[in-house]
Amino acid sequence: MLEKTNFEILNNYLLDLQRVDSLEKMQELVAKLTNSIDQVYPCITCKTGCYTCCTGSSMPNVYVKEWQRIREYIKNLDLETQKAIKEKTLGMIERKGDIFNFIHNVIHQKITETDLTEFANKVSSELKCESCPLHQNGKCSVYEVRPIKCRVFGYFSFVFDNKVQFLSCESDTNKMHEYLTKNKTNQIVLPYWNSFERKMVTFVLDEHENHQMTIIPIWLKEDYESGKL
Ligand code: SF4
Ligand code: SF4
Repeated sequence: MLEKTNFEILNNYLLDLQRVDSLEKMQELVAKLTNSIDQVYPCITCKTGCYTCCTGSSMPNVYVKEWQRIREYIKNLDLETQKAIKEKTLGMIERKGDIFNFIHNVIHQKITETDLTEFANKVSSELKCESCPLHQNGKCSVYEVRPIKCRVFGYFSFVFDNKVQFLSCESDTNKMHEYLTKNKTNQIVLPYWNSFERKMVTFVLDEHENHQMTIIPIWLKEDYESGKL
């Protein structure tokens, strides 16, 4: 059988996505796609080991089964790293607990529109100097089991409010615009995160836990309080 080109891999992702029914298979597909995107769009610079997107307001939402895998992984980290994660989490919760609760409530649609406008403006400035509690010594301490959202950031697009947007940081988005201008095209072939999210919810939920999805500081805080970590 002829090997598919990178463009063919990107154009056929929906067919591949149909066959995904576990986190492991999702991880494999995402790795295949990000590898093809790297080849097709060399302007994307995530491969340089940048971790800026672990900082600020773009903290990922993590589904419960992804979190269960991360929780087990944390338990097997060396004690010094476990302690550092705990201290960082508790410090963040003390400084910014209200903002994390706000984000959690937005995820669970427990917020009025007025509150949303009032608080949304605060989130990016309040979290500017905070980074994910799992970001330790300049790298992700749970890299092997990091959430799918962390794997696709910088590579995928998404549709919000009927507009297609690049799921990435400002710097990579600008580089992508420059690349398209230089190549005199406005066509770009990137998978839509929305399709992946719809697929994810078919295998990442677990009714036995308090939440089906939330941000990492909240998962950690509740695990410390309940003794799961
Ligand atoms: S998306 Fe941007 S901030 Fe994140 S790793 Fe890639 S280059 Fe860095
Ligand atoms: S889980 Fe890892 S990759 Fe994801 S935001 Fe946290 S430190 Fe960054």
